[in-house]
Amino acid sequence: MAESLGPCPICGREMMDGPSVDRHHWVPKLKGGRDMSPVHRVCHKKIHALFSEAELARLYNTPEALRTHPEIARFVKWLAKKPPEFNTRHDLPRKR
Ligand SMILES: [Zn+2]
Ligand SMILES: [Zn+2]
Repeated sequence: MAESLGPCPICGREMMDGPSVDRHHWVPKLKGGRDMSPVHRVCHKKIHALFSEAELARLYNTPEALRTHPEIARFVKWLAKKPPEFNTRHDLPRKR
Protein backbone atom coordinates (compact mmCIF):
# COMPACT_ATOMS: atom_id res chain seq x y z
CA MET A 1 0.00 0.00 0.00
CA ALA A 2 1.29 3.44 -0.89
CA GLU A 3 1.76 5.69 2.08
CA SER A 4 0.47 9.24 2.03
CA LEU A 5 3.15 11.91 2.25
CA GLY A 6 0.65 14.70 2.83
CA PRO A 7 -0.28 17.56 0.53
CA CYS A 8 2.01 18.63 -2.31
CA PRO A 9 3.57 22.06 -1.70
CA ILE A 10 2.92 23.00 -5.33
CA CYS A 11 -0.57 21.77 -6.17
CA GLY A 12 -1.97 20.88 -2.75
CA ARG A 13 -3.11 17.40 -3.82
CA GLU A 14 -2.20 14.42 -1.71
CA MET A 15 1.08 12.67 -2.48
CA MET A 16 1.29 8.89 -2.39
CA ASP A 17 4.76 7.50 -1.74
CA GLY A 18 6.10 5.85 -4.91
CA PRO A 19 6.96 6.65 -8.51
CA SER A 20 4.57 9.62 -8.71
CA VAL A 21 6.61 11.52 -6.12
CA ASP A 22 10.02 13.21 -6.49
CA ARG A 23 12.21 15.25 -4.16
CA HIS A 24 12.83 18.89 -4.99
CA HIS A 25 15.67 21.03 -3.66
CA TRP A 26 14.18 24.45 -2.97
CA VAL A 27 17.63 25.92 -3.41
CA PRO A 28 19.55 23.93 -6.02
CA LYS A 29 22.27 21.64 -4.67
CA LEU A 30 24.84 23.50 -6.77
CA LYS A 31 24.04 26.66 -4.83
CA GLY A 32 24.51 24.94 -1.51
CA GLY A 33 20.85 24.17 -0.90
CA ARG A 34 20.04 21.26 1.39
CA ASP A 35 16.39 21.90 2.02
CA MET A 36 14.34 19.43 0.03
CA SER A 37 10.86 18.09 0.21
CA PRO A 38 8.62 15.67 -1.65
CA VAL A 39 6.64 17.04 -4.59
CA HIS A 40 4.68 15.27 -7.30
CA ARG A 41 6.80 14.18 -10.22
CA VAL A 42 4.47 16.07 -12.59
CA CYS A 43 4.78 19.22 -10.47
CA HIS A 44 8.54 18.77 -10.25
CA LYS A 45 8.91 18.43 -14.01
CA LYS A 46 6.79 21.51 -14.52
CA ILE A 47 8.98 23.58 -12.20
CA HIS A 48 12.17 22.57 -13.97
CA ALA A 49 10.64 22.99 -17.41
CA LEU A 50 9.65 26.57 -16.61
CA PHE A 51 12.57 27.87 -14.58
CA SER A 52 16.34 27.69 -14.75
CA GLU A 53 18.34 26.69 -11.68
CA ALA A 54 19.35 30.34 -11.28
CA GLU A 55 15.74 31.53 -11.31
CA LEU A 56 14.74 28.82 -8.86
CA ALA A 57 17.55 29.78 -6.50
CA ARG A 58 16.94 33.51 -6.67
CA LEU A 59 13.21 33.98 -7.23
CA TYR A 60 11.32 30.75 -6.79
CA ASN A 61 12.87 29.08 -3.78
CA THR A 62 9.58 28.70 -1.90
CA PRO A 63 6.32 27.00 -2.92
CA GLU A 64 4.51 30.29 -2.25
CA ALA A 65 6.68 32.12 -4.78
CA LEU A 66 6.20 29.37 -7.37
CA ARG A 67 2.43 29.47 -7.05
CA THR A 68 2.35 33.20 -7.81
CA HIS A 69 3.59 32.46 -11.32
CA PRO A 70 0.61 32.43 -13.77
CA GLU A 71 1.88 29.36 -15.60
CA ILE A 72 2.07 27.38 -12.34
CA ALA A 73 -1.35 28.66 -11.28
CA ARG A 74 -2.83 27.39 -14.54
CA PHE A 75 -1.06 24.06 -14.19
CA VAL A 76 -2.32 23.60 -10.63
CA LYS A 77 -5.88 24.28 -11.76
CA TRP A 78 -5.56 21.74 -14.56
CA LEU A 79 -4.05 19.20 -12.19
CA ALA A 80 -6.72 19.61 -9.53
CA LYS A 81 -8.98 16.97 -11.09
CA LYS A 82 -6.27 14.37 -11.64
CA PRO A 83 -5.82 11.41 -9.28
CA PRO A 84 -3.03 11.72 -6.64
CA GLU A 85 -0.76 9.29 -8.47
CA PHE A 86 -1.22 10.91 -11.88
CA ASN A 87 2.03 10.83 -13.80
CA THR A 88 2.25 12.22 -17.33
CA ARG A 89 4.77 9.64 -18.45
CA HIS A 90 2.53 6.66 -17.67
CA ASP A 91 -0.92 8.15 -17.70
CA LEU A 92 -1.17 10.05 -20.94
CA PRO A 93 -4.76 11.03 -21.56
CA ARG A 94 -6.40 8.36 -23.64
CA LYS A 95 -9.51 8.71 -25.71
CA ARG A 96 -12.05 5.95 -25.33
ZN1 LIG B 1 1.72 18.34 -6.84
ZN1 LIG C 1 13.91 19.89 -8.40
